[in-house]
Amino acid sequence: MYEVILYYNFSPVSEPEKFAKQHKKFCKELGLKGRIYVSSEGINGTAGGTKEQIQQYKDHLRSLPGFEDTEFKSDEADYIPFAKLICKVREEIVALHVDGVDPKEGGNHLSPAEWRNVMESGEDYVMIDVRNNYESKIGHFKGALKPDLENFYDFPQWLDEANIPKDKKVLMYCTGGIRCEKFSVLMKDKGWDDVNQLHGGILNYAKEEEGAHFEGKCFVFDDRLVVPVNPKDLAPIAHCEITGKPADTYVNCANMECNKLFVCSEEGAFQMEGCCSEECMKSEYRRPFDPENAFRPFRKWYNYFGEDFKARNEASAATPSKS
Ligand SMILES: [Zn+2]
Repeated sequence: MYEVILYYNFSPVSEPEKFAKQHKKFCKELGLKGRIYVSSEGINGTAGGTKEQIQQYKDHLRSLPGFEDTEFKSDEADYIPFAKLICKVREEIVALHVDGVDPKEGGNHLSPAEWRNVMESGEDYVMIDVRNNYESKIGHFKGALKPDLENFYDFPQWLDEANIPKDKKVLMYCTGGIRCEKFSVLMKDKGWDDVNQLHGGILNYAKEEEGAHFEGKCFVFDDRLVVPVNPKDLAPIAHCEITGKPADTYVNCANMECNKLFVCSEEGAFQMEGCCSEECMKSEYRRPFDPENAFRPFRKWYNYFGEDFKARNEASAATPSKS
């Protein structure tokens, strides 16, 4: 049995490059796998390993000045859902692209029990799912607004157009809590007063309240992609984009130039050989269909294509796109 953790801490890092380098060295020597981002505002990570490795990692992070109070969301997994270790510096540990957002000025943190009480109280509120559309599609709290957005940094504009009355009680949630830490600050800055965020996010709620009032499952950013929230209700709420039948598994389109992550059943994956559309099936940059691995995230273009594919992709990424 392995352990997978998710954590963040908004604690200023004066030299992010140096911090990340030392942190990566420690993780590498420990044999940890995962994805860790460091910025001047703090750290955000998800990692997997044996119980012993994870314990050593937690002890290490909590031994660093400013990170003593780091909270970890933890889950068991029967494999390590990361192919490698990534530890690097980013502009923000979660990208909202709004300057001057200080997470210390955020909303009230509601414990899972408090959150559940508000949901059961009959009180009037608006609930916002601050995750991306492909995440909320397969699972969300009952009655939540689920903005149809592909990036977290699209939320500020959405908020400007959403017409949410300023005197409404606001509840917001995300996977592990980090996105609420920033979005709640933005809402308070813009004049909402009663702003509340689910402490520890859906993953913490799943552990403490067994997913009461949550429908479907939770998208996670590791190779598992989807984890259960309510153990008594495992029925998918989303539908396969190929067959239209209930499904909550994801496939990265086998056309490497598309690589879209979409909800797809096993039947749909076989039918389209892992592609999202007829057009993608005609691509010359198609990964061979591999049913064994079709339901794991795929970004390993270099296993199939050479440098010219990389150059083409980088050229197209450099030109301004919709996002
Ligand atoms: Zn496609």
